[in-house]
Amino acid sequence: MISRIDLRGSLPGDLRDVLPRAELDVEAALEKVRPICDEVRHRGAVAVRELTARFDGVEIAQARVPAAALQRALAELRPEVRAALEESIRRARLVHRDQRRTDVTTQVVPGGTVTERWVPVERVGLYVPGGRAVYPSSVVMNVVPAQEAGVPSLAVTSPAQKEFGGLPHPTILAACALLGVDEVYSVGGAQAVAMFAYGTEECPAATMVTGPGNIWVAAAKRLLKGRIGIDSEAGPTEIAILADDTADPVHVAADLISQAEHDVIAAAVLVTDSVELAEAVAKELPGQVEATKHSARIAEALAGRQSGIVLVDDLDAGVEVVNAYAAEHLEIMTAGAAEVAGRIRNAGAIFVGPYAPVSLGDYLAGSNHVLPTGGCACHSSGLSVQSFLRGIHVVDYTREALAGAAAHVSVLADAEDLPAHGAAVRARFDWRIPS
Ligand code: NAD
Repeated sequence: MISRIDLRGSLPGDLRDVLPRAELDVEAALEKVRPICDEVRHRGAVAVRELTARFDGVEIAQARVPAAALQRALAELRPEVRAALEESIRRARLVHRDQRRTDVTTQVVPGGTVTERWVPVERVGLYVPGGRAVYPSSVVMNVVPAQEAGVPSLAVTSPAQKEFGGLPHPTILAACALLGVDEVYSVGGAQAVAMFAYGTEECPAATMVTGPGNIWVAAAKRLLKGRIGIDSEAGPTEIAILADDTADPVHVAADLISQAEHDVIAAAVLVTDSVELAEAVAKELPGQVEATKHSARIAEALAGRQSGIVLVDDLDAGVEVVNAYAAEHLEIMTAGAAEVAGRIRNAGAIFVGPYAPVSLGDYLAGSNHVLPTGGCACHSSGLSVQSFLRGIHVVDYTREALAGAAAHVSVLADAEDLPAHGAAVRARFDWRIPS
């Protein structure tokens, strides 16, 4: 069911070559999404509706979800789901509110200051996936940081669902209503990203698009980056677990399965120095997979080349392996888990010890679940308040403070053979640099 990779002995030079990873050809998908994005650019809302019919199999009269549908979804939301969503929102707000930066003014010289001012982007389009599964939790994870950052205009989009008359799933609509979001669209895939990038008659263009999605969404974000800002490429889910012989194989198997549930190309990787644990987890998996609802999808994900059990000599080697892998989610199930977690440099989010499974982070830890995948965690962070802010330097110098810098500016300008730069400073002093 799940492959084994034996790295005992010595670790190879470039670990990334031997570690399991999906062959996600976003480059190839770019060729497919380019015409989709062009259609939306040139034919606007009509193209969005046609593409929705083609890829989601549902005719929609309009992309914008009526306000009444949002309120109806909220009114019909099961009370226990509402209570869980409210608690998820409350915890996410606590964490994301603490991420807010304050403006800082640095006095560089007397009369010369630089202030870093944090300004939210004007308008964001927040993508909430809805192909194989529906993700009201992703509404929370997108909207809360954008709101806490103070983004003035935000819109949510999620694929049209045939069984709900072309609207997104009602729980997604209810989550939007709970969060006070009234601009919602029933559009998915690359066409949704293009709709925000170019704007249509129905949907004003956004400055930024964030949120997780499948390969088409990731490819459209990569293609349109520059025209719009994006967060990281948050693609198909990954879990890596670093565990030793203190870990419970039942928990390890359950956690691998929980993330394989997302997608047939989701990745589930166990890294361990314990042959006994590896064997016990491999033995435990089939029964748990069999017993769960989406067993076919999970079995395919676990059998895929992106999943596996990696055997290493010791925990030091394990740390090296998971740092090279840079998983979206990394669980540490070892003795002294907090100390081991402190040695991790590359991961989207780290879950420490036996009582912090990734499922907690998916919904209720307070942390964000929109996280970099495909190894991007070695250079990118998950979605946060910071994702929606730009730091603007505000430079404020008096005449005297400028005079104190003028000679150095002139010398550096001449050294770069850009004498007009120096002249622009000297012009303020009647072409003389005061001593
Ligand atoms: P999705 O909303 O991302 O994609 C569905 C859309 O894809 C459809 O609306 C359709 O328009 C488009 N599409 C489908 N087939 C297409 C084709 N052949 N060509 C062009 N467009 C096509 O939903 P999904 O498919 O369920 O994927 C969600 C993904 O998000 C999963 O891989 C899941 O693991 C991932 N996810 C990641 C994170 C994260 O933080 N990294 C969080 C949650 C979910």
